[in-house]
Amino acid sequence: MNDCYLGVDIGSISTKGVVIDSNHNVIASLYIWTEGNPVKAVNKLVNELKKKMPSNYQIKGIGTTGSARKLIGLLLDANIVKNEITAHAIGTLNYYPNVKTILEIGGQDSKIIMINNGIITDYAMNTLCAAGTGSFLSSQAKRLGIKIQEFSKYALKSKNPVKIAARCTVFAESDLIHKAQSGYQKEDIVAGLCRSVVLNYLNNVGKGKKITGPIVFQGGVSKNEGVVKYFKEILKEDIIVDKNSHLMGAIGIAILAKKYQTGKVYSLDINHIKFETKPFECRGCSNNCEVLRIFKNNKMIDAWGNRCNKYVKL
Ligand code: SF4
Repeated sequence: MNDCYLGVDIGSISTKGVVIDSNHNVIASLYIWTEGNPVKAVNKLVNELKKKMPSNYQIKGIGTTGSARKLIGLLLDANIVKNEITAHAIGTLNYYPNVKTILEIGGQDSKIIMINNGIITDYAMNTLCAAGTGSFLSSQAKRLGIKIQEFSKYALKSKNPVKIAARCTVFAESDLIHKAQSGYQKEDIVAGLCRSVVLNYLNNVGKGKKITGPIVFQGGVSKNEGVVKYFKEILKEDIIVDKNSHLMGAIGIAILAKKYQTGKVYSLDINHIKFETKPFECRGCSNNCEVLRIFKNNKMIDAWGNRCNKYVKL
């Protein structure tokens, strides 16, 4: 039997899982939607990954990262649970040991990580404003009547990207409707959106940071060539996008699971574990988050959907 390691990166929009071998090669991977239920998503993820894994491998370590990392870590009995900053940095350094800046834009948040000689020296995260994230782009694509997969094609066709105020979702949406009604070409609006995502990111997440190359761009939005193009243009630097850029957090945590393995062999049989979920709308502030509280034996072990730390229990 060969040893392998499972890494799970679970966010509010997407759930990513990879299985790596002892040389950090990805031998199985999956990217699915979390659909508001991390427990259900991780069940599906694990069952699918089991089918994809070669039969001569055994799991010797499990790591979890992402906003539901503690809950999922408990569920999978992970030997390591770490935040996304660490996981992304470890994953990226494995492929690009000289990386200086990591740009990351995911489904509902974005981050920047500065690295010097393989060590994290600074970072910033934006979890509160959805403008400029994957979910923002998906909803705008829907509004324009185009598939998100076709976003890049439209953006790259444009010669005159329109200016779109992307400071926040409300402004961006009303500006977009206005531009669409004013008769602008679809490709110019899409390109304008990609450009505004980059500007929004640099003005908020990247504010005050010295962005130097090599720069690696990851997270789901890194697959959008329009956004990559405007990062290159505005930063005047080459932007590296790895083929596994959407899985980098999961890869990083799988590498750490290997490093901190305990000798245990995992079966990945989690279907028997039962968790109770109770949804409610928090009125603690104007965000009005739809919070899903998760209970095990009548004890709340985690909450989901909250945009602040109000329900952080673990
Ligand atoms: S969980 Fe409640 S207090 Fe926290 S951001 Fe959401 S609505 Fe506001």
